[in-house]
Amino acid sequence: MSEADDRVTAWSEAELGVPGRVLDVVRAPDVVLSSAGGEIDPTRPAMVQLAADLVATMRVSPGCVGLAAPQVGVGCRMFCVDVSAHPKTKGHHGTFVLCNAEVVESSRNEKAREGCMSVPDLTGDVKRASRLVVRGVLPGTGEPVELTASAFEARALQHEIDHCAGLLFLDRVSGAHAVYARQT
Ligand code: ZN
Repeated sequence: MSEADDRVTAWSEAELGVPGRVLDVVRAPDVVLSSAGGEIDPTRPAMVQLAADLVATMRVSPGCVGLAAPQVGVGCRMFCVDVSAHPKTKGHHGTFVLCNAEVVESSRNEKAREGCMSVPDLTGDVKRASRLVVRGVLPGTGEPVELTASAFEARALQHEIDHCAGLLFLDRVSGAHAVYARQT
């Protein structure tokens, strides 16, 4: 694990210095979910608050491993991820928020079932890279970071980066045969 990875692992929402509020999660077909989010200034107080809110909303949502700004109605490029409690997780970086994130390297495509809080009734088989390098900046400080993610965390990152580009997992399935009613 690189030094940059360590920085992401060490990050926690306490660094934001503001308490998060639990927000309502927007559902498809709300137009904010299909619009590409804009690049943000991660040092703006409103963005720091949004970062805290995303983490707080993820925390109270059972089984939620990531949440992107468009899912709480804000069309911008920010998301949080935390796969640490998920049974499919191997390696991970704990809780983190990334702004203006982009995939800079990816490899080894793998198909797996995915769900989304904004598409509560469906799941789908989606092919994703099982290893990737992501670059972004931290909220508050605006510090640039890069992390190498694999397996389930890599999948969660790609799902959230997609949200920031206005894409849902339904845009990534190979067809109707790869979409399923959610069993709960
Ligand atoms: Zn989602």
